[in-house]
Parts: sequence; structure tokens; C-alpha cells
Amino acid sequence: MVQFDLRRCDFSKCKGQCLSKCLFVDYDEKKAKEDIAKLIRQEPADILAKCVTCYACNEFCPNGANPWELINAMQQKTGLYLYPDKAKTTARGWATKEDRIIKGDPDKPAISLGGFMDVLPWDKVFRGKLFEGMTLIMGGSYCCRMGATHMGERDPPFKFLPNLVKNLAETGYKEIIFYHDACYGLLTAEALSQMIEIPFKPIHYIEYIRNWLREHKDEITPLNIKVAYQRPCTSRYNPHGPFHETIYDWIEEIFELLGVELVKRKYERENSMCCSSGIFPTQRERAMGLVHKNLQDAKDAGAEAYIFFCPICAAVMRQPSKKDFGMDPYHVIMLVQKALGEELPVGGAATGIPAH
Ligand code: SF4
Ligand code: SF4
Repeated sequence: MVQFDLRRCDFSKCKGQCLSKCLFVDYDEKKAKEDIAKLIRQEPADILAKCVTCYACNEFCPNGANPWELINAMQQKTGLYLYPDKAKTTARGWATKEDRIIKGDPDKPAISLGGFMDVLPWDKVFRGKLFEGMTLIMGGSYCCRMGATHMGERDPPFKFLPNLVKNLAETGYKEIIFYHDACYGLLTAEALSQMIEIPFKPIHYIEYIRNWLREHKDEITPLNIKVAYQRPCTSRYNPHGPFHETIYDWIEEIFELLGVELVKRKYERENSMCCSSGIFPTQRERAMGLVHKNLQDAKDAGAEAYIFFCPICAAVMRQPSKKDFGMDPYHVIMLVQKALGEELPVGGAATGIPAH
């Protein structure tokens, strides 16, 4: 299980970057170390309530101590990251969605939507050449439950992982593509840390799209637009080891293949801002302010369109992207479909799919 590692949390070998680099608080080194020291002593600290649950501090720590795991564990223990029960019920709904398998060609890999099939309606998204003949797996049994961490609960995704593996293995597919990168991260990096055997090959859907585009270059009409993108928070759980390409490799090559220019902005890569969905139920005004700060940065960098890789980010940010900043919002799947000349579903902001 990904854990906070006290042996690596060496204050003499860091400047408290875990929290001094956090984009959602204004901490210096002293305050950062004070808060981490309190949490190590299992005492409450200010960061528990101020955190927006973006996971970035795990990447910021130069010693690999995984401080987010400590923060989230203490959020669960103390209840200081307030999250209303009503919102929890809605979010937990992903884990109880009815299971459904829409069978396609058994010789093709299947794609798992987990519990995310309705955030952007699956029948409007998973169609066209990109997914031709592909089996769709969806429902609560295939939901990784990582959403619970945004509610200040640490245990559900890690405890459910053996069941997730079993449920997916029972589908019989040897290669499964994951639409939610938390599922992918759990079934790769986390499964290895728990020494859980995975009887199928997990493939990240962004890597799948990159590979598909490489093989279908002659079908693409370059889009010739400038874009910025929203990095999904859960991609911070993806493996970064020497045998893995990073999410940036896949994303940047997809944009190149689609003939779009990625603008250079302040909030990118490690310093990407979270979509703030975790704090919307409790701190709406703060969340909207953060969304605007993020989109303003993209606009200032010259972006004409804003690209999403996570349906939740799209659900939260699509409207302000278009309405307040004039940037067309696309989920990356729609961007590909547009470059292939496929008709985009008409739905507008109500479904998160821009009507073009
Ligand atoms: S978690 Fe990392 S950056 Fe934060 S205090 Fe510990 S060693 Fe320093
Ligand atoms: S998870 Fe994100 S918001 Fe929370 S403390 Fe870490 S960097 Fe800051």
C-alpha cells in the first residue's frame, strides 16, 4: 500500500517543499515542516482542512516520503477535512452503479469505464473509429473508489483493490484499457507494492489513443489550434519508473499527432492546478476562484481550447472555460473525433460535450 514513509521524511534533506510548493496554501519552509511534524505526532494541523486533495505533495517531496498519504490518513482519522454526507452519498454512487458489459470483438481489448460512465454519457463518447468493436465494461464492481480520497477517506480504494482485480479478471479479457487513470495507477504501481498478481495487461487509455493515432496518421486532419490541458490529479499515482513512459509523453505526442500546439503555461506538469472538485461541496467560492485562476493562466498563455483527460475535470471546468474565457472545452476523445472528421455529439455544456 502506498504509505507515508517516516524514514524518508528527513527534515535535514528538504526545504519543506511538500507544502511550501503546494499551490493551495501560502506556506514557507517553517510552516510546512511544523504542519508535517504535527501530523507525524498524530496531531491535527491546519493543512488538513486547507488541502484540496490534489496529491501533488507526493511529487513535490524530494525524498519520496509520500506526505499526501499522511495528510489523507489524518483527514480520515480526525474528520477535519469537512465533507457533507449528502455529497458523499452522491460520490459513493459511482461505486454502486449497476454493472454492465457491452460485448464487442473478443479479439480486441476491452475498455473499463469504472463508475464514470455517466459523467460524460458513455454512449456519446465511446463510439467512432477509436473504439470500433471494443467491449465496454462499466459499473460499481469495476470502480476503483479513488474518489473517496477526495472526501477525506483514505482506505476504500486500497482495500477494494483485490476485489477490483478479481472482478476485472472474471471478464476474461487479457488486455483492459482504463478510462480513469486512478484505476490504471492502482492496477500497476499500487498492485506491485501490494504484490497482487494482475492476470491481464492494464493499458492507460491515453497511451491507447497515442498508439492508435500513430497507426492512423493518414486519417487525421490537423486541427491547427492552440491548446492548454488539465492534468488529472490521479495521474500522480501512475508509474514513473524507467520502463514506463510518463503521461506527458503520451499527451504531448497526441497533440503533435493531432496538429495542435500546446501553449507554455505556468500551471503545467508537476505544477498543474487541481480542478478543485474535491472542495466544491464545502468551499464553492474558493473552488470557483481556483478554477478561474487556472483557466486565466491558460488564456494568458494563448490557449484557444481547453482539453480534459478526466470527465470530472470536464464536468467542473467546461462551462467557465467557454463562458468566462472563450476557450472551447473538449475531452481529448472528442478532440480526436474532431480530427477524424467524425460528428461530435450535440450536448453543449449540459453534458460536457461542446456542440460544434
Ligand atoms: S514530506 Fe518530504 S518535503 Fe515534506 S517535510 Fe518530509 S521530507 Fe520534507
Ligand atoms: S494534496 Fe495538494 S492541496 Fe493537499 S497538501 Fe498536498 S499539494 Fe496541497
